[in-house]
Amino acid sequence: MMMSLRVNEAEERLSPITRTFAGVKLTGVSVAGRETYFFFPGLGIGFDLGRSPQLLVPARHVFLSHAHLDHAAGVPYWMSQRRLLRLPAGTIWTEPSAVAIWKEILERFQRLEGASYDAAIAPLAPGQTVEVRRDLGVTAFRSPHRIPALGFIASERKRKLLPRFQGLAEEEIRGRILSGEAVSEEISNPIVAFSGDASKGLFDAAPADFFRARLLLVECSFFDPEDSHRAHHWGHLHVSDIAQHADLFENEVIVLTHLSLRATADEIRREMKKTLPRRLLERTVPFLPDP
Ligand SMILES: [Zn+2]
Ligand SMILES: [Zn+2]
Repeated sequence: MMMSLRVNEAEERLSPITRTFAGVKLTGVSVAGRETYFFFPGLGIGFDLGRSPQLLVPARHVFLSHAHLDHAAGVPYWMSQRRLLRLPAGTIWTEPSAVAIWKEILERFQRLEGASYDAAIAPLAPGQTVEVRRDLGVTAFRSPHRIPALGFIASERKRKLLPRFQGLAEEEIRGRILSGEAVSEEISNPIVAFSGDASKGLFDAAPADFFRARLLLVECSFFDPEDSHRAHHWGHLHVSDIAQHADLFENEVIVLTHLSLRATADEIRREMKKTLPRRLLERTVPFLPDP
């Protein structure tokens, strides 16, 4: 049985954490049942809204995994703040089956506020990609949870010279381009993947890029061996599920998110050491304030 948390520790864990993992800078909060959001200043996007912190308001594209309010309570506030700041457009992309209800809710908030929001909530079906920038796309996939939910993968696009043109002089290549030959191809590198809330089915449902992204944010709500049933009953992951699938992860850094306050930070770190095989443990970080 795990110890209960000091009041201070709960407060600390609900405060935003800013870190750079695998070259990707982010600020976020991720505590099971309380609040989850991540903002990536270099990419200009957010994953989930939590209670809509101010730093997420200017992001033009926010990707909402599902409608549980620890991830989604900030939707109307985000819309309303963008209007106050006169920020044009802006989109929250989310699970298609939830969009009609969100629109009803937002309609009511607009009536209550006597205002009209410029930002929109829009469906993103599993497999679809939003072109955030010319060099950045975000693709959704189905993440198994208690309600319909998505995970996301942000990928960088670059043009790369086809192998048969590599080593040729620049002038020669320019000539080929002018004569209409295709000399390059687009390559896509997954930078950051996010599971949203997910149950064990994630390991079958997630696309290959999820396990190849440089940075992986994967939910891991529970750590106490006694909490394994709780995890599966509520559609969440337990650290032992991550350990059992250790061979799948090719990611440079794996961040465990959505950590329940049922375990203290010390207990989380101890259970990680006990449960995760070394080759995974050395690349895995719990999303916790510095010890
Ligand atoms: Zn949650
Ligand atoms: Zn949830």
